[in-house]
Amino acid sequence: MTSPAAPVSAVPPEGAAAWVTIDLDAISDNVRELARRSPGAEVMAVVKADAYGHGLAHSARAAVAGGASWLGVAQLSEALELRAAGVTTRALTWLYAPGADFGAAIDADLDLSVAAPWALDAVAAAARERGRTARIHVKVDTGLGRNGALGQGWTDLVAALGPVVAEGAVDVVGVWSHFALADAPQHPTVLAQRDRFVEAAAELERAGIRPQVRHLANSAATLTNPDAHFDIVRPGLAVYGLSPVPDLGAPEDFGLREAMRVTARLALVKRAPAGQGVSYGHAYTTTEDTVLGLVPLGYADGIPRHAGSVGPVQVDGRRLTVAGRVCMDQFVLDLGPSYAGGAGDEVVILGRGADGEPTAQDWAAAIGTINYEIVTRMSGRLPRVLVGGGA
Ligand SMILES: *Cc1c(COP(=O)(O)O)cnc(C)c1O
Repeated sequence: MTSPAAPVSAVPPEGAAAWVTIDLDAISDNVRELARRSPGAEVMAVVKADAYGHGLAHSARAAVAGGASWLGVAQLSEALELRAAGVTTRALTWLYAPGADFGAAIDADLDLSVAAPWALDAVAAAARERGRTARIHVKVDTGLGRNGALGQGWTDLVAALGPVVAEGAVDVVGVWSHFALADAPQHPTVLAQRDRFVEAAAELERAGIRPQVRHLANSAATLTNPDAHFDIVRPGLAVYGLSPVPDLGAPEDFGLREAMRVTARLALVKRAPAGQGVSYGHAYTTTEDTVLGLVPLGYADGIPRHAGSVGPVQVDGRRLTVAGRVCMDQFVLDLGPSYAGGAGDEVVILGRGADGEPTAQDWAAAIGTINYEIVTRMSGRLPRVLVGGGA
């Protein structure tokens, strides 16, 4: 897990200053929609990085309730945490360094990605030691230039599989890869990577290895590229109701809805004269007698410091922008001279665009990043409030 586990409850904790609400039904419905768009393929819901900030175990369960038959995580520790939470759904993990505890992974009945000879050796050794067969998905680099065996490296990895498979130490259940530009569906690399994937799978077959599943599609490819669906689609972002292709469509255009809503309550409301510098550096100065509101959220909570003077929020249905710098624990709003509310009033930081709320995508656009980063950075310091999910 990327941050300490946030406390979880069904209503905001008594007196909470800020919290993150997770709509479990939205996660289930989003998975259902992704499955509907991928006939013939199973859905592997990607729940790495604490389910993109939504919380690992409850998000995983909601995804399974929506029809996900696989879960995907980057780190072994995340996969083990799923198992410790009692989630028994088939799960793939794919990112580790030499020394990783593959024995624990095999004991936890996890599927393991293998992208290099060292990993094959280490997984096989752990399986032998247990007298078991490890389930592996071999990863080919079809052009991303990141993880996966590339070129001759793939040919060598395929050759190395033969004896280990024959011996019964590993079962190659999957072959898989990842796109570089799935969010640009017309880009020539998308077609080229798909072609290379088919070719790499054929190379495996020629070596007598026939995996049950092939998987390539992330959220963007799941939504825009049916030719890349193969046997399993592997969406992450879309599971949480965010658009991986904001230029092509908002979540609702794809039948998705945002699962995360971030809310704070004003900690202080006070009158300030014209010409008052606000927050560190006085990057904002009031232009008239006005009312300032203090929002008890800062960069330690996941509000980007770059959002100073540009981050969008909503108070009482009105869109406002962060006034001046974002501090570690707080930032300020200029509520305007006629603000009649007071301390305790709710501020929506991000939520559902279709409801007129500022979105993770709005925050991303405001600071020049991607919506993935906005939700993933929401800190474990913020309590998670779960709604839906039959609770
Ligand atoms: C994160 C990740 C995904 C999911 O990507 P999204 O763009 O969030 O859908 C799929 N596969 C791999 C290998 C990943 O690292």
